[in-house]
Amino acid sequence: MFFNKNYLIGHLIYMSVFLGPLSCSKPVRSLNDDGNKFENTVLLISFDGFKWDYIDKTETPNFDEFISEGVKAQGLIPPFPSKTFPSHITLVTGRHPSKHGIVSNRMFDSFFNEYYYIGQNSKPVLNSKWYEAEPIWVTAEKQGKKSMTMFWPASEAEIMGTRPTEYFVYDESISNISRINQIIKWLDYPVDERGKFFSLYFSDLDTQGHRFGPNSIEVQRTTENMDDLIGQLVRSLKEKNIYDSINIIITTDHGMASTSQDSMIFLDDYIDLNNIEVVDWGPACAILPKVNVDSIFSKLADAHPMLDVYKKGELPDELHYNDHNRIQPIIAIAKEHWSISSRTSFENNPERFNGGNHGYYSTYESMRGIFFARGPAFKKGFKGAGFSSIHLYELMCHLLKIVPADNDGNLDSTKIYLSQKQ
Ligand code: AMP
Ligand code: ZN
Ligand code: ZN
Repeated sequence: MFFNKNYLIGHLIYMSVFLGPLSCSKPVRSLNDDGNKFENTVLLISFDGFKWDYIDKTETPNFDEFISEGVKAQGLIPPFPSKTFPSHITLVTGRHPSKHGIVSNRMFDSFFNEYYYIGQNSKPVLNSKWYEAEPIWVTAEKQGKKSMTMFWPASEAEIMGTRPTEYFVYDESISNISRINQIIKWLDYPVDERGKFFSLYFSDLDTQGHRFGPNSIEVQRTTENMDDLIGQLVRSLKEKNIYDSINIIITTDHGMASTSQDSMIFLDDYIDLNNIEVVDWGPACAILPKVNVDSIFSKLADAHPMLDVYKKGELPDELHYNDHNRIQPIIAIAKEHWSISSRTSFENNPERFNGGNHGYYSTYESMRGIFFARGPAFKKGFKGAGFSSIHLYELMCHLLKIVPADNDGNLDSTKIYLSQKQ
């Protein structure tokens, strides 16, 4: 039977919203509770854009209780660029973006001659050909442990020939509480049907952080709402008597820096925009020249004191950002708080630059996110040093008792969070 691609994707989204999760096996509801079979279970929760200090800025009784019974790191360091897809995929593969292939939220691949972009209804996000490293849910499935994902960037795509046993195509209209209820439903499955790895994703803090900035009252209110959500999840798990049996990791992809319309870098002040294509505006701006690369580079190199400009191949090694065809010939990186734009785009809507952004160097404190964890494998009431999110894949493989695929992380910086029995 012929399936038109657009029809198929539309249909998948329809099915996920109205009929429940997409699945590889038919779900069966549990009638009896076998509450003691949750060992080596991991629930990974991302609050997109949860900057490390948000919980210090308002009342968060539920996060506080979670941490007091578990662990907290002094910030989680994202990969470069500190953008949603590169970072979330690093977190679940243990690979730098140049090794997992998603080097930015918007990319051009010169071999495919195609663009990748994210967001609701994105078609490339669903296409397996963009992904070059093995996510935790694939590692788990390959080793006979089911995964069930209530959103996670790229969890809707087939990767290395495998998908989570149940997953959803990204749909922002699914309410946060429905997402939590879905996890509870999955945990109700009989033990043979049940997953070992689960994910949850919430975008509210990122959205408010961009719109109003990290120091806004709106971000404070949203932090409180996210705290309520965790409270609801915890209550449901306690009711089922399984809260203490599951390892729960609460984390994020990056922090957020404030931006201002007074801190602008306009590329058209230095070069003719007709001579370049801007594949991604940044703050790590990806520039594809239509003319000689050096002619563009020389005009931009010392153009603005708040702009670092590199030719591909010459970025500092610690960024791990030189070796992929999807990295464009010139990368111009704004310093913290600064925005890259064009005069016309700015004049159409200057207000949108008064808010927050991420994508900057991951070494800035403002780009740090959260790592809280609780469960049988973790210490209780322990606070430790910050570490790089590249190590979470190894940590989760350890918790799930599965053998990790090749990756760039290790257990060295996360094992201090594990209890002695581990
Ligand atoms: P950023 O531009 O880096 O702030 O990215 C955040 C955005 O990523 C969210 O607001 C969503 O629109 C998008 N996003 C998150 N998860 C997914 C997904 N699974 N598929 C497509 N887009 C997503
Ligand atoms: Zn994000
Ligand atoms: Zn964002």
